[in-house]
Amino acid sequence: MMARLAGALVVSALVVGALVLAVSTSPSHAEQFAARLTQIAPGDYVRVGECAEATAQNLDGIANTGFVVGRTAVAVIDPGGSLADGRALRMALRALTPLPVRYVVMTHSHPDHVFGGAAFLPDHPVFVGHWRLPAALANRAAYDAGRLSAVLGQDAVGAPVPPTLLVHDTATLDLGGRVLDLQAHPAAHTNTDLTVLDRSTAVLWAGDLLFVGRVPSLDGDLPGWLRVLDRLAALPAARAVPGHGPASVPWPAGAAAERRYLAALLHDVRAGLATGTDITVVAANAGRSQRGGWALFDEYAGRNAIVAYKELQWE
Ligand SMILES: [Zn+2]
Repeated sequence: MMARLAGALVVSALVVGALVLAVSTSPSHAEQFAARLTQIAPGDYVRVGECAEATAQNLDGIANTGFVVGRTAVAVIDPGGSLADGRALRMALRALTPLPVRYVVMTHSHPDHVFGGAAFLPDHPVFVGHWRLPAALANRAAYDAGRLSAVLGQDAVGAPVPPTLLVHDTATLDLGGRVLDLQAHPAAHTNTDLTVLDRSTAVLWAGDLLFVGRVPSLDGDLPGWLRVLDRLAALPAARAVPGHGPASVPWPAGAAAERRYLAALLHDVRAGLATGTDITVVAANAGRSQRGGWALFDEYAGRNAIVAYKELQWE
């Protein structure tokens, strides 16, 4: 339409257009989002996040996120990595169903999973999370917002919405003939990990307890993470949605590579501690036998080893 306007009018229209795009979801991000959305089972929709760090182009749409459509309501599972990303998710959802968004479930405290929360405020959903999530968000949201603002620009960032429905152990959500089983876990990837099992499709939304293809990042408890994976392996799930990776993988087989890496990291850090090896040497070597097949390995492996070393030195 703007192409039919002439001269200066076109320029001013483009400038206004650019300003509008800067403060809302750009059509290109919405299109990108829709192109990455896939239905992995009847009513389970996953947007596959970009395998990258946050950039102005991907608007922190780097995590897998999505929603479950029941007979009378919808539950969003992780509202996206920024306000702009959350708005794109909401647009994609609205294009598929008119049902109300009754719940927004957050799988843990990391910004790429929660900063889109405010995009869903117009729907007045119940925000749901691990009982430790409010404190974790209070501790880190300002820092995360500053860091994201520097990359995305302040207007695109948004903010997480603290949960009011807190899960201490287990909880169920009913979407009308469709029940989601929620489970809050002890410290693993973080200390706020929450999983969602869609009973009707046997799909497990694993959040960042499951990384596939992109190297796991440790921000919780390494032995605890392996214990939680054992617990999740026993669930009656056929497929799992990783926090990062493809839209879904067979379950529990899809966790095999992550288990191998976490087990190697645990073994190597314990061995380093047992021999009094300096933390910098351990950071440079731990888990390296598993380097093949992981994206962003060099960006995270050293940091993971340091987190594990600091945790395990008190064993
Ligand atoms: Zn995470």
